[in-house]
Amino acid sequence: MARSPSPPPLFPFASQQPTSSHETFSPPPSILIVGSGIFGLSTAWALARRDLFAKCTITVVDRSDPLNPDAFPAPDAASVDTSRIVRADYADKAYAALGAEAQLQWRKQAKPTDLGAQGRYHESGLLLVADPGPVRIPGEIVAKSDMTGMDYVRSSWANVLSLAADNPDLAGRIRELPDVDAIRERLGTGGSSGSWGYINEGSGWADATASTKWLFDKVKATGRVTFVSGTVASLEHSGATVTGAKLSDGRILSAELVVLATGAWTGGLVDLSGQATATGQVLGYLDLTEAEQQLLNDMPVILNLTNGLFIIPPRNRVLKIARHSYGYLNPAVPPTARLPSTSPASQPISYPLTHLSDPSLSIPQEGADDLRRALREMVPLPGLADRAFTKTRICWYSDTPTGDFLITYHPQYNGLFIATGDSGHGFKFMPVLGEKIADCITHSCPLEFVGKWSWKPDTELIITEDGSRGGKPGLTLANELGKES
Ligand SMILES: Cc1cc2nc3c(=O)[nH]c(=O)nc-3n(C[C@H](O)[C@H](O)[C@H](O)COP(=O)(O)OP(=O)(O)OC[C@H]3O[C@@H](n4cnc5c(N)ncnc54)[C@H](O)[C@@H]3O)c2cc1C
Repeated sequence: MARSPSPPPLFPFASQQPTSSHETFSPPPSILIVGSGIFGLSTAWALARRDLFAKCTITVVDRSDPLNPDAFPAPDAASVDTSRIVRADYADKAYAALGAEAQLQWRKQAKPTDLGAQGRYHESGLLLVADPGPVRIPGEIVAKSDMTGMDYVRSSWANVLSLAADNPDLAGRIRELPDVDAIRERLGTGGSSGSWGYINEGSGWADATASTKWLFDKVKATGRVTFVSGTVASLEHSGATVTGAKLSDGRILSAELVVLATGAWTGGLVDLSGQATATGQVLGYLDLTEAEQQLLNDMPVILNLTNGLFIIPPRNRVLKIARHSYGYLNPAVPPTARLPSTSPASQPISYPLTHLSDPSLSIPQEGADDLRRALREMVPLPGLADRAFTKTRICWYSDTPTGDFLITYHPQYNGLFIATGDSGHGFKFMPVLGEKIADCITHSCPLEFVGKWSWKPDTELIITEDGSRGGKPGLTLANELGKES
């Protein structure tokens, strides 16, 4: 896809970027958050609880569910699903520490209202594995872009051990699995995957739909946030100042600050070429018998970072198989208009296609075959790998070149803040992310994320290279769907 030339910044770049220095910040009278996935909802939650914003009106708008306009977010949002992995197991120290901070909240289960209660969080353990990679000198620093899945797993192992250094209980729950047999033994399904890895019994998974609903209820309970159901068709602006959003039904929501938290759809409202792109990821769900559910009750989450395939322990006799991959691009002309108005509206960008816009959408054969490969290797119960999926889904990431989030003021527009670029790993941070986004809004980006979350120099081609992705880069959804099985 060709990219539109970027016009020069209209404002001095530095003054628009969140920095660690406490630049003076005056809260605006009104904030409009577009998108109520976990990036938008957690931001609303953080702002609503801060005294600094006590006099500021906060509105959240989302496409929502046309059949259920009071439900937020939309059912095809990335934040809505049966499960998401919750881990501190990252090759990058900053995300590992943030994951550990979030885990403290996920583990709270004493009261029914606690985040981790009522089945929202399960500490099943996470088995992180990879296939053979290059032999490295122990302790060798590998650039993020050169990381293999094996490098990622080894760095992640070092990071979680270091995080647990002063906590013998946590440290005792992390154990190396040096070969296929050790991996098979801990997996407990009869299957295995990868040639080396480790188990972290302190990681697990969350029921994403139930947890997002928990957050939505928390935000509503503040009494500070107005929810609006509607699709933003374009951002309103006066010259280089964004003043609100126009909905597809003609309504205008005005605000001094607009926070775009529109996940993989963000490129439809603001030109993100060189920053982030939408990639579609495959998911398959299988019904199990009660006996199969019992057999798999105690399996950990298993994630192979060489091929990206992962399986989450089943609940209520449903097993989910997925692939964390380079994903599919879907070149399309979005139904929304994007800033700057100089970026030609007719130019295709990769834009989500979901079961909401196309109820007949299925997953490409290439993806289905890979999910079945995961079943054969990881959960080889008789008949399972050939069983028909009860449901499949293409779920959309907002991918950045490095896998870092994009949480920053827009370099060219006053009054516009971007909170996206989840790169397929944002959910686990739900209990802590909004606070960090609010810090960035007030020009106090956490030091460890300064640079990582900022607007970057343009990258010609966005392929997420952080060592965690499987599959092939550059596949397009239409091509793959068009192939014969
Ligand atoms: C298959 C898959 C597996 C994943 N696994 C994990 C995992 O194991 N662990 C983990 O931590 N993370 C995981 N993630 C990532 C995680 O789900 C995302 O990082 C997170 O949910 C992104 O939240 P978001 O708010 O940015 O986007 P979303 O949840 O997609 O929310 C965006 C919202 O914006 C709304 N919107 C978009 N455009 C408009 C518009 N024009 N007008 C109004 N509203 C609009 C949408 O309706 C939507 O509700 C996974 C993601 C996928 C897809």
